[in-house]
Amino acid sequence: MKIKKLSNDDMSKEKTSSRNVDTVENPESVNRRRFSQWLAGASLASASVGVFGKEAADNKHVTIIGAGIIGSSIAYHLSKLGVRVTLLERETVASGASHGTFAWINATWAKQPKHYHAFSQMGVASWHRLQKELNLPIVWGGSLEWFASDSRQARLVSDITQQQAWGEPARMLTVAEAQAREPAVDFHGATHVASSPRDGALDPVLVSKALVAAAARQGAQILEHCEVTDIDSSTDKKGRILRTTCGPIMADRVVLATGPDRVAVKLLGRFDLPQRSTPGVIVVTRPVKRLLSGIIVGPGIHIHQRMDGRLVIGEQEGAPDNAAHALRLVERPKRFPNELVADQHAQRLLATTRDFLPSIGEVEIDEVIIGWRPLPLDGHPVIGPCPTDDRVYVAIMHSGVSLAAITGDLVARELADGVEMALLQPFRTDRVFDTKNRY
Ligand SMILES: Cc1cc2nc3c(=O)[nH]c(=O)nc-3n(C[C@H](O)[C@H](O)[C@H](O)COP(=O)(O)OP(=O)(O)OC[C@H]3O[C@@H](n4cnc5c(N)ncnc54)[C@H](O)[C@@H]3O)c2cc1C
Repeated sequence: MKIKKLSNDDMSKEKTSSRNVDTVENPESVNRRRFSQWLAGASLASASVGVFGKEAADNKHVTIIGAGIIGSSIAYHLSKLGVRVTLLERETVASGASHGTFAWINATWAKQPKHYHAFSQMGVASWHRLQKELNLPIVWGGSLEWFASDSRQARLVSDITQQQAWGEPARMLTVAEAQAREPAVDFHGATHVASSPRDGALDPVLVSKALVAAAARQGAQILEHCEVTDIDSSTDKKGRILRTTCGPIMADRVVLATGPDRVAVKLLGRFDLPQRSTPGVIVVTRPVKRLLSGIIVGPGIHIHQRMDGRLVIGEQEGAPDNAAHALRLVERPKRFPNELVADQHAQRLLATTRDFLPSIGEVEIDEVIIGWRPLPLDGHPVIGPCPTDDRVYVAIMHSGVSLAAITGDLVARELADGVEMALLQPFRTDRVFDTKNRY
């Protein structure tokens, strides 16, 4: 499927919706030399000044719409390069997908094909850089993953072999080895478990807020509760006037980091980005004793434990496919209709968690969230100028937690320096979008 550009007539039918954020095996094992080579290669490959170059001098003021983890990272990296930045958020920092996320940083077997895998590997390495720069709370404990069915488990073994060929130190562990790593986990009779030792997890709200605070220290202006309702390109060829609920704002360039809000891309970017945003339930507990050092991805469940002791639990399956759910999900709710329903979902996920963590004991629930994934149809990021207006740039992706650090870095360089990053070429808006059934 190719992207559809929207005419003004199409646009008049759209409205924005204001209804509808230690212990790797060895943390130093991130291959920094290889990362530097990638970045050096990227710079070389990008040396020619592209479409952004002739206008780079005009990029004095960049306005970013959306303060999720992606917009926050772009704001941080751009302001670090000396660009004047305004970050606009219609709710509060990290209140969208970056709140209801599992927040696993990875470059695992699901990241296919090779170029997307390499980008994800750089994503992991970039978080190590950012963690040092901003002292971020990221737990680098690796991940352990396995499946219940023999056939899926056999595929995992071949996926791990491919991971190794692509430079990941992933390997299959015996359950005894896995048990030594995570003594509190019941591996349910699995014989082998895939280990991805470079993986980490973060607190997405804390980290987004840290990025925004650092951007503000570098001079960025942050406006929460400010919704952008339109971008007017008619009055000034070089700049854009943003119509917002906090008054008109003039910008030389605009970045749409609006996450799963498809209406925002249609209305503000004037193109129809093929997306199929899917929901997922995330349960966060109050702090408990240390049970896990890394991420557990078992049949039906994902679990990790934050630095502060909170367990984060995610489910693998989406909502049951029935009429009642379909009706409720039309409005893309971020909360359950009432506390009783929220608690039923929390208890359902906790019951599964107890199967895998039998010593968990009594736990109190902190939050039950419905997260909506920003999911371009082919499962890959969409990063680059909009097809209808090269002064409006888009950065929308799943695995945005894994990719926020590298995306912020590369997007900032494209906008500030005016060079096209070759690494971002596969993720432009003019590609063909094929459906992939992941996530
Ligand atoms: C259940 C679930 C599990 C996930 N697990 C993982 C995982 O383990 N690892 C991983 O890497 N990724 C994961 N993801 C995906 C990841 O969370 C997202 O890719 C990432 O959070 C996207 O960040 P964002 O900043 O693009 O979007 P968001 O966080 O949604 O931010 C977009 C912001 O734009 C604002 N906005 C929209 N329109 C306007 C407007 N007109 N004016 C002003 N503001 C506007 C919104 O209010 C919102 O705050 C998961 C997602 C979900 C839902």
